[in-house]
Amino acid sequence: MNITRRTPGAHDVQIEIAYCGVCHSDIHQVRSEWAGTLYPCVPGHEIVGQVSAVGAHVSNFKPGELVGVGCIVDSCQHCADCDEGLENYCDHMIGTYNSPTPDAPGHTLGGYSEQIVVHERYVLRVRHPAAQLAAVAPLLCAGITTYSPLRHWKVGPGHKVGVAGIGGLGHMGIKLAYAMGAQVVAFTTSESKRKAALALGASEVVVSRNPDEMAAQAMSLDFILNTVAAPHDLDAFFALLKRDGTMALVGAPATPHPSPNVFNLITKRRSLAGSLIGGIPETQEMLDFCAGRGIVADIELIRADEINEAYDRMIRGDVKYRFVMENSTLAGTA
Ligand code: NAP
Ligand code: ZN
Repeated sequence: MNITRRTPGAHDVQIEIAYCGVCHSDIHQVRSEWAGTLYPCVPGHEIVGQVSAVGAHVSNFKPGELVGVGCIVDSCQHCADCDEGLENYCDHMIGTYNSPTPDAPGHTLGGYSEQIVVHERYVLRVRHPAAQLAAVAPLLCAGITTYSPLRHWKVGPGHKVGVAGIGGLGHMGIKLAYAMGAQVVAFTTSESKRKAALALGASEVVVSRNPDEMAAQAMSLDFILNTVAAPHDLDAFFALLKRDGTMALVGAPATPHPSPNVFNLITKRRSLAGSLIGGIPETQEMLDFCAGRGIVADIELIRADEINEAYDRMIRGDVKYRFVMENSTLAGTA
């Protein structure tokens, strides 16, 4: 379909989108698994490209520069959350797609498109080499969604950290926790990822369907980052946490997890937590952290007309580890 973007206002940046990562949230929303999807839906919130025009009052960005846009394109800009740079927790946060907006058609349209116009506050600077641009795209959601909880729970040297679900988010979680100095254990349901997860920085890989392998990790982890996109038994993971350990859920399945057993929490003062993407300043911090260390996502480039097959493969866990759309292949498909 053809869509129209607004003419850049004084504080807007117009971006020619080069690549857009394919997040499991795109699947949840396209299929209205979280309910409330507004159609027509244009998904995509792992956007990278080149600035093509700027409004009169934009001083931080110039045409030609490499930039990114993640999950947030607006917020109230004056609440306590926005003041702290935690726009992701603003009650009026506007998502990159499927949020109400004055622009036609009345809700935001995301990054599976050729251009986007975004207020400068929500535009990120990309400092990676241009040749890595496609592999930078997934940092805008998968990167920040894993970086933010790892930072919030102060993961670092001396910590043993579990990452559950080795997809787009999980593989970034392994890379980032490793780069922060932690010892990382990867938990996967896919035997085929056993070797590959070691290459990402995990020191051990556990196939979570194997009770003996799970038992070997009992009471050993300081923190678990759970990215799994489907409901599952959380108790199996709580048993792996030390006293005072925390499991942060970032995976957002369409239906709830079975309720955890209270005794698994109270007997070792364990915590169950959640985390939503990250704020704009922290997203820039994450991009710079990754640029400084040469960290990018492991990607498989797809054409726009391969998107349905990509979704099916993600549902099967068959992706190492993120599909990224080459947006120039959208031309002529409308
Ligand atoms: P993904 O690439 O599809 O990875 C999810 C992984 O979960 C799979 O690769 C698989 O890993 C594991 N899994 C185990 N059982 C599964 C099942 N029955 N169905 C699907 N996956 C299963 O997804 P993603 O893009 O990383 O996103 C993961 C979840 O995080 C999604 O629910 C997404 O909506 C959510 N999310 C949340 C935030 C946030 O702010 N909190 C941000 C972005 C995304 P193994 O093969 O290793 O078992
Ligand atoms: Zn996402």
